[in-house]
Amino acid sequence: MSFSLLGLSPAFLKLLEAEGYAKPTPIQNQVIPVVIANKDVLGIAKTGSGKTASYVLPILHRLEQTAVSTYREPTVLVLVPTRELADQVQQVFQTFIPALTGQPTCLAVYGGVSINTQMQAIGKADIVVATPGRLLDLLEKNAVRLSSIATLVLDEADKMLNLGFKEEVDRILALLPPRRQNLLFSATLSDDLSQFQQLILNAPQVIKIAAETNDIELIHQLAYLVSEEKKGPLLRYLIKHGDLKQVLVFASSTLKADAITHKLLKNRIHAAAVHSKLGQQTRCFTLQQFKAGQLRVLVTTDLLARGIDIEFLPCVINYELPRSPKDYLHRIGRTGRAESTGDAISLVSPEEMDHFKVIQKKMGIRVKILSGDQIDVQGY
Ligand code: ADP
Ligand code: MG
Repeated sequence: MSFSLLGLSPAFLKLLEAEGYAKPTPIQNQVIPVVIANKDVLGIAKTGSGKTASYVLPILHRLEQTAVSTYREPTVLVLVPTRELADQVQQVFQTFIPALTGQPTCLAVYGGVSINTQMQAIGKADIVVATPGRLLDLLEKNAVRLSSIATLVLDEADKMLNLGFKEEVDRILALLPPRRQNLLFSATLSDDLSQFQQLILNAPQVIKIAAETNDIELIHQLAYLVSEEKKGPLLRYLIKHGDLKQVLVFASSTLKADAITHKLLKNRIHAAAVHSKLGQQTRCFTLQQFKAGQLRVLVTTDLLARGIDIEFLPCVINYELPRSPKDYLHRIGRTGRAESTGDAISLVSPEEMDHFKVIQKKMGIRVKILSGDQIDVQGY
């Protein structure tokens, strides 16, 4: 299949070529025509398989087809779990908006930054990409109405419908027109429709791209069994000895992320942290720096486990395991994206071993475990 056969206009094809998108990924192949046909979608495909463009392209295509009313209100709403993901999705819309003659506007709104500029801009935006909390704040201030929303996207949908977000998302859903298109995406969504049917989706097309058995494993997973106090030296050994050019390190808490970063810097390894206790400017700046390849090690929490796209990231290290088995898949999915390969290494203490077994069992994977304590990390 090619993008032109999916019904996208020549202007899109030019931009797709410039972006290096030679042909649609499997999820794009299947989702794009269904979204163009104005149907609901439950889209399930692995991390890094191009789910974002699978909804961004047909949504923009449809905006071009539908006349813009003179009374402008947002018609597309995308809900995402983190500020960083809101920015990233907004940028994908921005990349393809030039293909349209109407030039709709796309705005990302999220907390941690001034609400005033968002208040002025949101009412006039055609497409809003939002984290739920800030959108509710803006609604409370009457800065925007959602009565013209024709398409709703829940990216990382399982997370958005999970306990942490459910109440906020429900409040937003209640403000949307009942007749609308609903698009749900994640790598870890259940295809059991009964969960979503009454709630959100209306006669959806379920599109699930299963990993093919002859798929080459793009993410090479490995674990080291290592005592807690040896994790730090082993991390630095892996980075220095393995000559790792870029690494994303996951810790279980903001305090731990800071401590790991501090130790790396002390050992002259260029590192910085991104987590929820840092200011939004720092978070943005550091992630941009890392995405641009100007920072060797980024230490973070599950804040960056989902959705974040770092081109050609060669390695993810779990300094500690995530609590949720799903988040293990999302974390390691920051590498091995768009058909490039990557390593995912977990440092597992004896106390964490039972939990690691649970993760493997629940996610249907088997990870090779090496002994970390046998590696000579003296001097690291
Ligand atoms: P997902 O949401 O499925 O985890 P993303 O939408 O973030 O994945 O896409 C992962 C990467 O693949 C991005 O860098 C994106 O630019 C790239 N990409 C998406 N579609 C294509 C395509 N058709 N050809 C080449 N690269 C693509
Ligand atoms: Mg995504």
